[in-house]
Amino acid sequence: MVDYKSLGLVNTREMFKRAINGGYAIPAFNFNNMEQLQAIIKASSDLKSPVILQVSKGARNYANATLLRYMAQGAVEYAKELGCKHPEVVLHLDHGDSFETCKSCIDYGFSSVMIDASHLPFEENIALTKKVVEYAHQFDVTVEAELGVLAGVEDEVSAAESHYTKPEEVIEFSQRSGCDSLAISIGTSHGAYKFTPEQCTRDPKTGKLVPPPLAFDVLDAVMEKLPGFPIVLHGSSSVPQEYVDEINSLGGKLPDAIGIPEEQLRKASKSAVCKINIDSDSRLAFTAAVRRVLYSKPGEFDPRKFCGPARDEMEKMYKHKIIDVLGSDNKLAQLD
Ligand SMILES: [Zn+2]
Repeated sequence: MVDYKSLGLVNTREMFKRAINGGYAIPAFNFNNMEQLQAIIKASSDLKSPVILQVSKGARNYANATLLRYMAQGAVEYAKELGCKHPEVVLHLDHGDSFETCKSCIDYGFSSVMIDASHLPFEENIALTKKVVEYAHQFDVTVEAELGVLAGVEDEVSAAESHYTKPEEVIEFSQRSGCDSLAISIGTSHGAYKFTPEQCTRDPKTGKLVPPPLAFDVLDAVMEKLPGFPIVLHGSSSVPQEYVDEINSLGGKLPDAIGIPEEQLRKASKSAVCKINIDSDSRLAFTAAVRRVLYSKPGEFDPRKFCGPARDEMEKMYKHKIIDVLGSDNKLAQLD
């Protein structure tokens, strides 16, 4: 059993409280390799932002669970080295699919876990979430649950259709399950292909696809039922068209990749939405930068020469999200 506090990590409780009161959201960035982690920590430390490092089950399989945990521990020390004396770093399991996966992460030193039982019937979702909460809270680990179904594909999580969260269910769910935060479905979606062209309209001026707007009425109804309760948005990459166009112009093939407009996420951040998950945008930043180098220098074979620029590109993207979308810069409890 590893106590996350001994690793210098924190849970989400205090940072979510401040984010709701302050009208901003905490970035939850997924990582599975060193360059991604370096970029996340550099961006959040330079900007004095709290940060949630997210690890999916797929990432644990890819990178090795033990190695990932030490990487997160190293991330706290790296933040300090960068001049952030009191970093607030959460190590969070993204889309835990069973009690066993959640328990394994808690025992490994995670400070927060998500149990995603949203595909189960209501009563079973409550029962499984409650079981995880009872275990997690013994160690002061916070638990995110999910109600409603998001469409899209993310690692091993996929659903063909989305179902908006039913606001009339949230009070009973949160009270009986005891969860600390709730992921809801209001039209965000996993992956880089969040919508089919048929679901979108086309901007007559630019010819670009415009995705359907988020269901802010559902969000408002949830907030009315659960005042001050932390809400989470998954699948919130914006899929920047500059990256998609660049990748496609350098031999890639990402037809009609489309995400959530940043203005809508900015609007959501100002509400009780206090955690916004961004994964695909870092994959796109990484891929665009790697293609840029390898296309212009076909003789390059030192991975540092393309992973380094990929890291810089991700850092730039993370900083933009923190400042312009989430508003979490300079929000550490102790800024000195
Ligand atoms: Zn997700």
